[in-house]
Amino acid sequence: MKKRIVILGSSGSIGMQTLDVISDMKNDICVVGLAVNFNIQILKIQIKKFKPVAVSVCNSIAAKNLKKWCFLNNIKTCVYSGNNASEKLVVMPNVDMVIAAMVGTVGLKAIIAAIAARKNIAIANKEVIVMAGKYIMNLATKNNISIIPIDSEHSAIFQCRVYDKYSQIKKIILTASGGPFYKYKKDFSKITVNQTLKHPIWNMGKKITVDSATLMNKGLEVIEASILFGIPVSKIEVVIHPQSIIHSMVEYIDGSVIAYLSNPDMRLPIQYALTYPEKLFLNIKPLNFLKIKKLQFYKPNFDKFPCLDIAYYVAKKGYTLPAVMNAANEISVEAFLNKKIRFTDIARIIKKTVMEHKILKNPDLKSFVNADLWARNHAKKIIKALLNE
Ligand code: MG
Repeated sequence: MKKRIVILGSSGSIGMQTLDVISDMKNDICVVGLAVNFNIQILKIQIKKFKPVAVSVCNSIAAKNLKKWCFLNNIKTCVYSGNNASEKLVVMPNVDMVIAAMVGTVGLKAIIAAIAARKNIAIANKEVIVMAGKYIMNLATKNNISIIPIDSEHSAIFQCRVYDKYSQIKKIILTASGGPFYKYKKDFSKITVNQTLKHPIWNMGKKITVDSATLMNKGLEVIEASILFGIPVSKIEVVIHPQSIIHSMVEYIDGSVIAYLSNPDMRLPIQYALTYPEKLFLNIKPLNFLKIKKLQFYKPNFDKFPCLDIAYYVAKKGYTLPAVMNAANEISVEAFLNKKIRFTDIARIIKKTVMEHKILKNPDLKSFVNADLWARNHAKKIIKALLNE
């Protein structure tokens, strides 16, 4: 039987690549729902091609326009609109799996609704795991559903973790391409938005591209790995690997290391999340070991990239602090993309927000949501003060 899926964030980079993978898997997978924030231009093309049962559009004006377009074109797809629209989509009875590919924590409610309705999750949306990971993982266990990672490093670890006894794992080695600035020698405070958006390896959405440049993406991934695999952060190491051939490694207590290698192509982890535990044919450029001249590894520079340092601090403290760090990062990245603050202000704002947060122990879902809200407002206040300096 075909696996029936919903994609949250279908107009984003991961959403579109997921549909690209699915278009070659028509016998195995069928798209029953697509959710976007406002981009109905892309959604219309996807509706025509994949004929989903329903779609959701968060922006109500865009949703209204789409409903009109469906009516005029005699398209039977149901259009949900408003803030809770994506929750209606994921709980539809004919859904087997939800691909969580939204940016930021906006996807939280829909992911929780999906888990509560016992839908398996393929997760690319790391911010949600960083914000409320413990709650999400407990809920997943309670409802007996799987959460399969799409993030390339976590997909790699997932597949390197062949011995399922955690006591046998010495450490996880998360690789990072290093982004555009790992060799940058000039003044970091003068780095422009345009320079930041030119990632050497991956072609991704704007937010994650900025996160890759500050290494906050790796910081978020350290926390994501710790939560998804139940491994303490002290056992997670980050290594800069500019070639992006090794996507991560697991070192075992006997000294052996299992690594996952491929040419960098997000379609690979996406397809594996869709077909797990099977591996199906995928038309990607194979690795040619005779042509790989070198695989290099460097220690990350925590002084140049303070975001990674903040993430380790936050991960060790735990509780509501990761939610605070993530929210402050989202606000700072947005301000940087809008050219309101400098590249180096991103880490400054996050650090100040993190330091001024009063950690709440034994948090429930509401505590995570409140911490996220508090951090957003607090980071905005810090930015305002910075602009008045
Ligand atoms: Mg990644």
